[in-house]
Amino acid sequence: MSKVSIGSITCTRCGENIPVHTYEYINSIEDSRLAELLVGRGLFTRVCPKCGETYETVYPTMYHLAEKNKMIMFAPDDECSKEYEESSQVFVQMGVDRRIVRSISDLIEKVNIFNADLRDTCVEVVKIMLFSRFYQEGKDVRHIYFDRVDGEDAIFDVDTLDGWLAVPVSIETIRGLAGDIPQEIDNLTVDVRTMGEYLKGIGG
Ligand SMILES: [Zn+2]
Repeated sequence: MSKVSIGSITCTRCGENIPVHTYEYINSIEDSRLAELLVGRGLFTRVCPKCGETYETVYPTMYHLAEKNKMIMFAPDDECSKEYEESSQVFVQMGVDRRIVRSISDLIEKVNIFNADLRDTCVEVVKIMLFSRFYQEGKDVRHIYFDRVDGEDAIFDVDTLDGWLAVPVSIETIRGLAGDIPQEIDNLTVDVRTMGEYLKGIGG
């Protein structure tokens, strides 16, 4: 079952007390409502019942995407990351593939990637290719996130200084990368940085 604790914050605009539910552990199959809230960011968003002001509350959580056999842990700092690495060992014995992420956006992206049945290592390589393409075009890009599948394409959201762009990349291209990436690269931390280091290491 999902583990919940209840606290509260005070609305800085009107002084109202806003109840805050935080979830230490969520199982996607046992609690599909929370799974939906998570990908919609609602799990971390609070709305003041009196004045409607919204707040983002950040808290660490372990998300067990049970139908895909994945455990995605949102650890905002090193200490939490270490703790999760140890406490999730029990899931390794159950054959669950683990990931640790550092931001809510990264957490949501991972869930979207695995729900789309894509390999995150391949998705990160595509993001590196997109970064380099935009760089060559002289465009500054802050972030790139996998968003969703649309027909034959994966849609990436690209955060440029001029706003967000939706960039399609064919799913065939992404899946085609899998053969070149050894399975042991699929580790606790898979992101643009670790995949960049990997590509550098093989001279790519
Ligand atoms: Zn308020």
